Order: sequence, then C-alpha cells, then structure tokens
Amino acid sequence: MNNCFILLASGQSKRFNSNKPKQYIIYKNKPLFEHSIEKALTSKLFKKIILVVNNKKQINQSFPKSVIIIKGGKERSDSCLIGLKYIKKFKPTNVLIHDAARPNFSIKLLKNLVKSLMKNKAVIPTIDTKDSIKYRVKNQLFNLNRDNCFLTQTPQAFRFNDLYNLSIKQKAKIQDEATLFIKNNLKVKFIKGENLNSKITYKEDIKTNKTYFGIGFDIHRLSKGRKLYLGGLKIPFHSGLKGHSDGDVIIHSIIDALLGAMRKKDIGTLFPDNKIKFKNIRSPKMLKPIIEMMNKNEFYVNNIDINLICEQPKVSIYRDKIIKLLSKLLNIDSSLINLKGKTVEKLGLIGKEKAIACEVVVSIIKYE
Ligand code: ZN
Repeated sequence: MNNCFILLASGQSKRFNSNKPKQYIIYKNKPLFEHSIEKALTSKLFKKIILVVNNKKQINQSFPKSVIIIKGGKERSDSCLIGLKYIKKFKPTNVLIHDAARPNFSIKLLKNLVKSLMKNKAVIPTIDTKDSIKYRVKNQLFNLNRDNCFLTQTPQAFRFNDLYNLSIKQKAKIQDEATLFIKNNLKVKFIKGENLNSKITYKEDIKTNKTYFGIGFDIHRLSKGRKLYLGGLKIPFHSGLKGHSDGDVIIHSIIDALLGAMRKKDIGTLFPDNKIKFKNIRSPKMLKPIIEMMNKNEFYVNNIDINLICEQPKVSIYRDKIIKLLSKLLNIDSSLINLKGKTVEKLGLIGKEKAIACEVVVSIIKYE
C-alpha cells in the first residue's frame, strides 16, 4: 500500500506566546514535531513522510531518506495543499494529514486509520466532549446537546485522489480537511480518537511538575595498549582507560547523574564489578537499562552538562562528534547536551596523562 504522511509544522503559534514557534520547542526530550515523525517512521506504514515547515533552516535534525522537508504556505490549508501537490508524483493511494501540535497519538491510531481507509474515503478520529458547548450566530446563543457533539482530532486519513480533487477546488481557508468532505456532503467515517492525543495550543498545555537534579563523577586510570572511549566515541590516543568495563568516564558519569536524579542509587549497584557478565562491557550498553528506567518512570531530560577533565585529548576536536553520539545513545535532542573540556595545569595524575576524570550534572522533568 502506498501511503504518505503529511506533517503540518508551519503554524505561527500566535496563541502560544513564545519567541520560538511551538513546533520547535523541546517537549519530552526533542522538538515537538519530531515525535510525530518518529511515530510515523516506527509504524512502517508510510512510503514518504512530508514535513511542512516555515523555514527549512530551522530543521537541523537528520532523518532517513523517506522524510522530506518542504516549505509551507501562509495558512494551514495552504500548507496542506502544497504538501498534497508535492506528493502527487509519488502516486499515493492514501494520505494522512497531521498537526505537529499533537505529539501524543499512538501508533495503533495510525494503524486503525489506514485500515479504515480500505472501506472509506475519509476517516477522522473523534472524542466526546467533556464540556458543554454554546454556539453563537450573530447575537443569538444556542445550546448544543453534548451527546451530539464530538471533537475532531488529527491525524485525518484520506484516499489521496479524493482529498486532492477537493483541495485544489477549495478557495476559502478551512480549519481541517474533514471540513472539505462535510461541506461537499461526502461521507466521513468517524473512528474513536484518543484522549491523550490533545493539541498543544497554549503554553499551559505543557505542564511539568518537579525538576530533579543529579550529579555524577568518575575517574579511570590510563593504560597503554587499551582503546580510549569517551562518550561512546573511539578516540585515537596513546592509552585507553582501565576498568572493569571500557572505562568510558563520560558515560559512567552520565549514568550516575541520571540515577541520582531519579533517586535510584548508583552505577556500582546496577553493574557490580565482581560480576563476570559485565567484564569488558561497552558503556553504551550500560546506558540502555537507565534509559528504560527513565521511559518507564516518564522522566525527560532538561539538560546535561559535562566537564571532561584531562590534558589530552583536546575536547574541542571531538566535541560535536561526542555530542551527536550521546544524543543518539540517549535518544534526546543534541541541543540538550553541553560538553566542556578542563585541563588541570599538568598537576597530579590527570596532569601527567595517567588518568581522565569527568563530572556531569543533569536536570530531568516529568510532564503531568
Ligand atoms: Zn567508570
């Protein structure tokens, strides 16, 4: 099946009250829009994923080839039409249109939408309204019966040709694509949406409660004939770090800092160094259970600050590479990580290039 996913991320966020358009704010470890792309990719339902933005320069993430970034238009409906015209050449059967401001839909919803398109031309997820709704026409007010009211969400799913043909004829601005079908008296299939799939419109929609801090420190001796790993990166050097594992002081400090912030003891409790199975373990592997713990407890990273303390190697040479690698290992946006290098004026073991140390401070949050 040839499905395309169009993600609209070109809104101006007038109601959001922030310097940064809301689709780029960091939410749960990454820019808001990225959650939708990740889910669309994970679902494996789509041949092409089109990200429609105001300014392509604002996107510095790298995505697989199937993700294409294009520039949108003034209004939401303009951006949608630009997206539809763009994908026409791929001859898609179906297209899903989604707002980047809804990062919390499930992959199951994507699957239900696509499945439902086998029998329908337009499929829209809806939820019941919890509030009673009033409706104003000029000066007259009407009460809407709550039992007959429902709220529409995105992603909205369509047979491509039907939506395309309606969209190119549409002149006025519309709020969503379902409107086109309804206006033209065409059948729309409503399926169950998700309460968690709410739209982030105002700053207050993102509620975080407490922030937690954690601190980590680690030091390992340098030893000739070993490979040097820092932040998961193999670095050419005269010696490597000695330890039960690969001695990666950066990753070990991050682990301890994250465990500290979650109040889950320390790295030694998790990976006792008298256990054979952890001998020579690569440090990125040690990060995995920590990330699982964070996901399970719904903790997200605010930022990570790293001090690498050594005479050599020079941090400035490897900074970008290490940050990129750490962002991948931790599955967080690279803008959340800072790495500083610190020498010790040739003093002591570290100054004589016999050891490398690292300290890390992290801050993590929970969303309500
Ligand atoms: Zn260590």
